Order: sequence, then structure tokens, then C-alpha cells
Amino acid sequence: MSESETKRAASRGSVSAGASLPEIIRELLAALGEDLAREGLQGTPERIAQTLEFLTSGYQMQVGDILNGALYPVTYDEMVIVKDIELFSLCEHHLLPFFGKCHVAYIPDQRVIGLSKIPRLVDMFSRRLQIQERLTTQIAETLMEHIRPQGVGVVIEARHLCMMMRGVEKQHSQAVTSAMLGVFRDQQQTREEFLSLVMRDSKGV
Ligand code: ZN
Repeated sequence: MSESETKRAASRGSVSAGASLPEIIRELLAALGEDLAREGLQGTPERIAQTLEFLTSGYQMQVGDILNGALYPVTYDEMVIVKDIELFSLCEHHLLPFFGKCHVAYIPDQRVIGLSKIPRLVDMFSRRLQIQERLTTQIAETLMEHIRPQGVGVVIEARHLCMMMRGVEKQHSQAVTSAMLGVFRDQQQTREEFLSLVMRDSKGV
């Protein structure tokens, strides 16, 4: 497609499939009324492109790359908790960040995963376009499937810039989502132990 054809396609509301990300962002900035020749915007399309590629880099990662080889046999069968995992994601409805903390717990069934793998799994699913509810479920179901524990609990507390910046919700509101699988779903005592351990010192996000 020639440059003039690309411009026509952009003005129709469709961008050429062959256009690079910086080119598309230039179109976006122009459509917002920005002057692309302005000094402050030099390099901005390239920076946004790199940022967006990083923030969506979770699409290029596989669960197996993170979890394979990190499972260890144990006889331990008490609750394992990794709390206050920093979380940054992009809401798929507005492409604005939501951020907060993720708390993960599981009760092993003869094997555990290396503790450092859990934050990496959270990063993998966070670096995609998400809604908080699905992110929570994906983390829980992936751990359930790969560690095969007695149960998994995941809680995410997050604040959403699409609500805060647009004045939709009060500035200090936060969304809390949870996913409980296996014994965390079936046994109230287990679920409550997890929730009291992660929420006890929580100062919110
Ligand atoms: Zn949103």
C-alpha cells in the first residue's frame, strides 16, 4: 500500500495491516489533534510502541517456559502463601492500567513449585490486555493444572485508572477479586485461613 493509500485507509477509520506500530500511533496522535512536529513528541510514537510491546509481552510467553522443571517433590502439605505480589496490567476496555497486589496460596499434594515462579506467572498473565476477574481465574487455574495441588486460592486487590481518571468511581475505591479452587472452594476453614492471612495486614493498594 502506498503512503497516500495508507492515509486514505486511516481517514476511513481502518489502518493498513502493514503499518508499523509507531506509524499507527502517529495516526492516533494526529487524530487526537496533536501536532506531530512538536518538539516534545519527537520519539514519542516509538516510545509508546516499545512500551505497549513490553506491557503485552505476556502473549509471547508460555506457561511451560516458566513452570517446567521447577516442580519439586515434598511431603509438606500445609498452606504455601506468596502475598503482596506487585501487579500491573492493562484493562482491555480502555487500555489504561490497573495495578495492585496479588496474593496466591496453595496446599501441595506431594509437589511444590519454586516460589519465584509464582510472581513470574502473575507477570505473564498481567502483561496482556485483561479484566481483573479473568486475570485472577487464569492464575488460579494455571497453578491448579500444573502443580495439581489440593487447592489454590488467588486474591487480587487493584485500582483501575479507567475508573479513577475518568471520575467513574471514587479515587480510593479498589476492586477485590478472588478465585478459589479445590479445598479452597470446598472447605470454608481453609478459605478463611487464607483470607485472614492475606487481608490481615492489608493496607489496600
Ligand atoms: Zn477499563
